Amino acid sequence: MAKKQFKAESKRLLDLMINSIYTHKEIFLRELISNASDAVDKLAYKALTDDKVGVKRKDFQIFLTADKAERTLTIADNGIGMTKEELEKNLGTIARSGSFQFKQEMDKAENAPKGAKAVDIIGQFGVGFYSAFMVADRVTVRSRAYGADEAWEWQSDGADGYTVEPCDKADVGTQVILHLKPDTDEDKFSEYLEEYRLQELVKKYSDYVHTPIRMEVTKSRQKEKPEGAGEDYKPEWEDYREVDTLNSMVPLWQRAKSKVKSEEYNQFYKEKFGDWEEPLATIHISAEGQMEYKALLFIPARAPYDYYSKDYEKGLQLYSSGVLIMDKCPEVVPDHFSFVKGVVDSPDLPLNISRETLQHTRALHIIQGSVEKKVKAELLKLQKEDREKYLKFWKGFARQLKYGTVNDYGAHKEVLQDLLMFHSSHGDELTTLAEYVERMKEGQENIFYLCAENLEMARNLPQAERVLDKGYEILYFTDEVDEFVANTLQKYGEKPFKDAGAADALPESDEEKADAEKKAEANKPVLDFVKEALGDKVSDVRLSKVLKSGAVCLSTDGPMSLEMEKYFRKMGDDLGGMKAQRVLELNADSAVYGALAQAVAQDPDKAKKYAELLYDQALIIAGLPMEDTARYTELVCSLMV
Ligand code: ADP
Repeated sequence: MAKKQFKAESKRLLDLMINSIYTHKEIFLRELISNASDAVDKLAYKALTDDKVGVKRKDFQIFLTADKAERTLTIADNGIGMTKEELEKNLGTIARSGSFQFKQEMDKAENAPKGAKAVDIIGQFGVGFYSAFMVADRVTVRSRAYGADEAWEWQSDGADGYTVEPCDKADVGTQVILHLKPDTDEDKFSEYLEEYRLQELVKKYSDYVHTPIRMEVTKSRQKEKPEGAGEDYKPEWEDYREVDTLNSMVPLWQRAKSKVKSEEYNQFYKEKFGDWEEPLATIHISAEGQMEYKALLFIPARAPYDYYSKDYEKGLQLYSSGVLIMDKCPEVVPDHFSFVKGVVDSPDLPLNISRETLQHTRALHIIQGSVEKKVKAELLKLQKEDREKYLKFWKGFARQLKYGTVNDYGAHKEVLQDLLMFHSSHGDELTTLAEYVERMKEGQENIFYLCAENLEMARNLPQAERVLDKGYEILYFTDEVDEFVANTLQKYGEKPFKDAGAADALPESDEEKADAEKKAEANKPVLDFVKEALGDKVSDVRLSKVLKSGAVCLSTDGPMSLEMEKYFRKMGDDLGGMKAQRVLELNADSAVYGALAQAVAQDPDKAKKYAELLYDQALIIAGLPMEDTARYTELVCSLMV
């Protein structure tokens, strides 16, 4: 029997498979099972209208047989089968669109400057029937097409082409027989003859294929107690063989929402995503219209340990009609919701999905849009109806949502602003921006905030007093990113954010303005003296408009705030030595100021010490490090004696 040659493209693909160094060779099983399942679907579809098919729905199956003596693994189906011509056409050429794309990618890779990245491409595509050659050095396909009188055997060792000969096969369907390659140091192909390994692979990749995948497996049972056995009879065990269905077939997400119990969702989540805690929320989507798909999304109760590290990979499992095509598809979840776990299944997604193909990215994009919408809605619902749960969520993912608001120049702020929570002067509970606005007083124009190291310090900031006395609430920004969030949002519901410590935080009447100017003028000698004493530690010394009972505080001129300076310093970014322009504010009505003014007039040496001391105190209040602590103690001591 003369050997026929593969078409050139097929040959290249084959060579690649035969010599593959791809590490996930195990996907061959998924590919062959998927082909078998398609073939079964085709015949089952025919059976709907054609009585002659004769196979009952429940009898359709895919059967795996591992023969250790022969070193073969057989994947058999009772699907539609292939005629001689189909065997040649389907297995001898790259007919399938997926393979064609694959070939194009391969060309690209081969022309790429550094080494063929074919390995990566295999992973992305799933390469159909030829993937059998990653694990087998000879493949035999015996098939009988529905309606045909004879069966045919296609056989190939890859390299030298293939043969097609008639053979005996009574039933309609196809058997793919893999003659496994000898084991090497890297690859133990004989593992594909082990029951447990095959069970594992089916569970992993093909659990939701809707055709039963069966195999004879060894089980163990207790022997029957012999008649007349006495008290001291010890139960004996025996092995027996039984055909088992390896896949569970109907995935949870394909079932009607009303039919799935919450324990089932939770169980599924825990098993699939290896979490010991139940999810905070489960979202079951069944979408039609623009695109048909089902999705099951979970919001974890806490951030995984590596969540805020580079190692964390976002993404959902992608299925095409029950067949796993990608374990973590990042394109279907927006970055700001990267904590979402789950699965997406759509018949509109091809098995051989390619990231490059526009058509597919479009599909993934549609899914991402609806994942974003649903997750946001679910979180808002939790926030309103189950605050305790929401706070738990917030604890784990606050940082994610805040950074999400700031990232991409605020592109996602509309999506995220309602999910944010802050501490405030209203009480001990965190508040949303909507709740803040709801509580705003008549005549209050701004959403006030103050930045501080922690809540305790924020509550004690002297510059808050004036705004609080008006009955206005202040948000306490205790997280470094908070101020950036406010800067990014700029407004919430038409209300601008405003630093409560800014001189212009509250509107000033003309009269007040004139008064302040007069006062500043009168105190100029003292202020100049202090500025002189502090040198370039501060850019200005002013009479404060914000202090009521406190004596000093620090504020800034220019765009950089003290909190931003702290933040950048922490990030190791010294911005070329740029610092916030510090302004020392003094309260002319305080007793301390009186003492200072007196000293300026009568004892400049002492006044100089006062100036330094006041500056140090302002630093302490602001939570900034004192520049010279030894000098500070020296000052205090010298003033005490
Ligand atoms: P794909 O499945 O993506 O089309 P494959 O290379 O895996 O590509 O298979 C090529 C073709 O061979 C299939 O489209 C199908 O027509 C045919 N085929 C493969 N396996 C079987 C099978 N078990 N039963 C019937 N036809 C099959």
